[in-house]
Amino acid sequence: QCPWGAPNKTSISCSLADVMSEQLAKELQLEEENAAFPEVVAVAEGPFITGENIDTSSDLMLAQMLQMEFDREYDAQLRREEKKINGDSKVSISFENYRKVHPYDSDSSEDEVDWQDTRHDPYRADKPTTTPRRGFVGKGKDITTKHDEVVCGRKNTARMENFAPEFQVGDGIGMDLKLSNQVFNALKQHAYSEERRSARLHEKKEHSTAEKAVDPKTRLLLYKMVNAGTLETITGCISTGKESVVFHAYGGKSATEDKVIPPECAIKVFKTTLNEFKNRDKYIKDDYRFKDRFSKLNPRKIIRMWAEKEMHNLTRMQNAGIPCPEVVILKKHVLVMSFIGQDQVPAPKLKDVTLSSEDMKKAYYQVLNMMQQLYKECKLVHADLSEYNMLWHDGKVWLIDVSQSVEPTHPHGLEFLFRDCRNVSQFFQKGGVAEALNERELFNAVSGLNITADNEVDFLEEIEALEKTNEDHVQNHGKKLSMFSSDGDPPIYDE
Ligand code: ADP
Ligand code: MN
Repeated sequence: QCPWGAPNKTSISCSLADVMSEQLAKELQLEEENAAFPEVVAVAEGPFITGENIDTSSDLMLAQMLQMEFDREYDAQLRREEKKINGDSKVSISFENYRKVHPYDSDSSEDEVDWQDTRHDPYRADKPTTTPRRGFVGKGKDITTKHDEVVCGRKNTARMENFAPEFQVGDGIGMDLKLSNQVFNALKQHAYSEERRSARLHEKKEHSTAEKAVDPKTRLLLYKMVNAGTLETITGCISTGKESVVFHAYGGKSATEDKVIPPECAIKVFKTTLNEFKNRDKYIKDDYRFKDRFSKLNPRKIIRMWAEKEMHNLTRMQNAGIPCPEVVILKKHVLVMSFIGQDQVPAPKLKDVTLSSEDMKKAYYQVLNMMQQLYKECKLVHADLSEYNMLWHDGKVWLIDVSQSVEPTHPHGLEFLFRDCRNVSQFFQKGGVAEALNERELFNAVSGLNITADNEVDFLEEIEALEKTNEDHVQNHGKKLSMFSSDGDPPIYDE
């Protein structure tokens, strides 16, 4: 639960569900709302990173959370002092104006009018008879104090004008209406809460249309990582994609001696509220590593599995010596890894960098090599390999974004591999690498298979036939074909 107080139930009249109709999104949204995350954190939501406002650093969020905590403490102290000073006295003073968190919990105030507040009192200007600072006018028997019922009532009516502008006060002043303190306070309270409510609604609306980068729970996760010292600071957002948001952070100190946290980290937050993930079911559903678990999972857990998948795949690649981010820590749907780039500047994607023809050729052979390693040593097919998911850093290509990567024995694994080959082949051929194999040659070079079809249609047909043979074998024998012998030879299919 939240360390900043009891959760408030908030009613949300403009929900994300309006925008996202898919069942998954709805469920996730509901779950989030039902968790009734305390308003304290929701307040900190405002200026934090959104799609439109990606420069804001999350330090701001942390600062806001701390400030909010501080403010509440401050107010509590104020309230204690107020009580001490006022005691049982009939006339009490109020520190209302000095409160930081306005005026949230002023539930006490049946008889509380801030007498000091006459700055905007219209009666003051054109009615000189209003009581002066010393608190009374007149002499002896005719003395009128500021507590005089009539004066006070008029004043209250006038003050009503200073309520929130949207708050309809009617023509009380013109009618010389006199409000009792009690009524005045009740109205004041109402005006304030109206103001807060509309502010809240406005905020909610903004967040539902402007795509929320991270939800409060994620923010709390990030906050905890900073708090635990794993991360030093979270500096800002590197990328907002359909399925994930990536932040840059400076690494902190590790709890254990043996693991060193890289000086710069990338935090990949898998989005928990987008139905985009639904379309990607097929990657994970047919991946036998996750098969048993898939059926038992709720949507939130499935999204966590994407993060988990990325972590496992990165670890495999790391072990094979493929240049890729190094896993630092995984917490739910948040994956922290080493940052590819320097001084907060991420390495450029291959599609954005202009390489000399020499470097281009070097990059090509490196990619060919990595694809083979990935397939043979890591037993993985990237499944989203393109110039968008390859970074150029330190004079070499780094592979990223492997949450969707699958084993070659995945029912569609070879099709994914073919798609990867097509992307890679096209990119380097267009990039002027004369040596670049075409997609079919590349496929055979990576997989060790020898598909001879000389056109794409036939080639794909053969690929699908192979996949089917493999699947049938699984059906009949209850286990995967041994596509790989232990020494990393090319896979052997039953034919
Ligand atoms: P998505 O599924 O949103 O494409 P990616 O893993 O590709 O997720 O990350 C999106 C972008 O964030 C990448 O294109 C890259 O620019 C940046 N990025 C991701 N991971 C890292 C990293 N470890 N170091 C530097 N930049 C990264
Ligand atoms: Mn990507």
